[in-house]
Amino acid sequence: VQAAFRNNLSYLLELIGSGKESLIFMKKRIRHLASQWLLATHSLAQKLKGRQRDQKQILVHIGFLTEESGDVFSPRVLKGGPLGEMVQWADILAALFILGHSLKVTVSLKELQSNLGVPPGRGNCPLTVPLPFDLIYTDYHGLQQMKQHMGLSFKKYRCRVRVIDTFGTEPAYNLEEYATLHGYRTNWGYWNLNPKQFMTMFPHTPDNSFMGFVSEELNETERQFIKSNKASNMAVVYGKEASIWKKSTIQGKEKFLAILNKYMEIHGTVYYETQRPPEVPAFVKNHGLLPQHEFQQLLRKAKLFIGFGFPYEGPAPLEAIANGCIFLQSRFNPPHSSLNHEFFRGKPTSREVSSQHPYAEDFIGKPHVWTVDYNNSEEFEAAIKTIMRTKVDPYVPYEYTCEGMLERIHAYIQHQDFCAGPSLPLPEKPQGHAVPSSLSPFSLSPNATHLVWSHNASNTPSAWPPVSSMQVWVSEAGRACTETCQEHGLVCEPAFFQFINKKDVFLQLRMSCDSTESEMSHLYPAVAENVQECYLQKEPLLFSCAGYSTKYRRLCPCRSYQKGQVALCRDCL
Ligand code: UDP
Repeated sequence: VQAAFRNNLSYLLELIGSGKESLIFMKKRIRHLASQWLLATHSLAQKLKGRQRDQKQILVHIGFLTEESGDVFSPRVLKGGPLGEMVQWADILAALFILGHSLKVTVSLKELQSNLGVPPGRGNCPLTVPLPFDLIYTDYHGLQQMKQHMGLSFKKYRCRVRVIDTFGTEPAYNLEEYATLHGYRTNWGYWNLNPKQFMTMFPHTPDNSFMGFVSEELNETERQFIKSNKASNMAVVYGKEASIWKKSTIQGKEKFLAILNKYMEIHGTVYYETQRPPEVPAFVKNHGLLPQHEFQQLLRKAKLFIGFGFPYEGPAPLEAIANGCIFLQSRFNPPHSSLNHEFFRGKPTSREVSSQHPYAEDFIGKPHVWTVDYNNSEEFEAAIKTIMRTKVDPYVPYEYTCEGMLERIHAYIQHQDFCAGPSLPLPEKPQGHAVPSSLSPFSLSPNATHLVWSHNASNTPSAWPPVSSMQVWVSEAGRACTETCQEHGLVCEPAFFQFINKKDVFLQLRMSCDSTESEMSHLYPAVAENVQECYLQKEPLLFSCAGYSTKYRRLCPCRSYQKGQVALCRDCL
């Protein structure tokens, strides 16, 4: 069946159901963004020019909202609990619905079971029940529930699952056998999924798929209004929980607060109960937790949105920038990660977080984003002064607009298939000293720095993204492919590892291999240069953009990307 774009969201609101605060929050958001979604639908439809799109049967099971996982969030919605996840789920639902797919939404175990066709209490039933869905979007809680209640069919169908995973899961933590052997510990289980099945809130490691969410765009009238109504001395503090003001968090930061207070009127949106005022200093104008729409109105007046270091990587800084604020945040030196910070401990990633919001720092930057050392009073004060004088326009990166999100999800649904095996046999048996065969699809760049795909169309494998967007680079020792590709204006593309996991590729890159082994390691393919040993990857699930080691120079499959839409290469919609 062809999927047809939908131009009315009211049936979706019905599908979502009601009763929980979290559902009310999500529905309000969908309603509020409806006109923006519809405009975006129109322009994406024009871009795709009636292209064939299959309608998928999709189950959206929001595990963290089920009582069985403790549903700690619904009661917290009214207290400023992590709204970021709900923002993202609301936008995912809207996008899937608008793209014309057939949706079921479940927020309880009972509904999940009845939709999966599993009779209650028959979780370990040895029969595999046919799964009535092409795709299931869920989270780590939902994944656990599905495993418990689907019995054997879980293994069979897990390739259809997409896991919404805010902070990301690196391949080394995903593969049970490997993670256990090498100490990649996680509190979130070892799921042996294709790492691209994990979908993140920001483009973290390219090993995962970037899902994202939407930040509201302003129309011309609103932009003009904002420009003439900004109060250049008004700051809003990022964070809804009183803990960000606790002595332990602020500790040693009194200096920067005093400087901020000298120049600006400080506003907060910290949740408090009437009986017990939070530990917010008297000079802060605290509005309490605001409804999302009112929060955005506050941002429209404010000049500065300032982070104190926590929470990490939420939607609010993007909303602030979309409403014409400048976002000021502290640089983390050393960076925070699961190795040195409580918050990230047990999360399945070693990613180093270099500031409160690395996406804002790396993908947006000045003039909208300032990342400074808060311990350096001069640097901090100079930033505040410059910010007060700097005029900026409201800005939303394309990938966070409704159209950008629709385009990306459309591409994933059409092209990502984790149920088909790898398109080439893996791994290749290492052979003796082979001369690069004339059949190699790569050719060396003129300055001999990297390989480009050169095969003629007749034997180009059908892959997504298309292999024509590929370049193969070798990392420095100690560098990850993520950074190596970035240095060349490209992004690491794990789907291409299968094409470069070959002895010939080392030779073509003029790396000498005295020996070539095929082993399991999230760092391979790589070369240990001083000893001239080359290594191929034995386990496709371990292909990783993120890994690095001072022992190895890694082979890195990179690809181009669209400016403002890093998930898609040029010409690969
Ligand atoms: N938000 C809100 N009221 C407020 C402050 C924030 O509704 O007073 C919303 C905000 O618009 C954003 C969401 O809360 O979309 C999540 O914010 P944050 O970036 O703090 O992420 P979290 O830590 O909640 O995941």
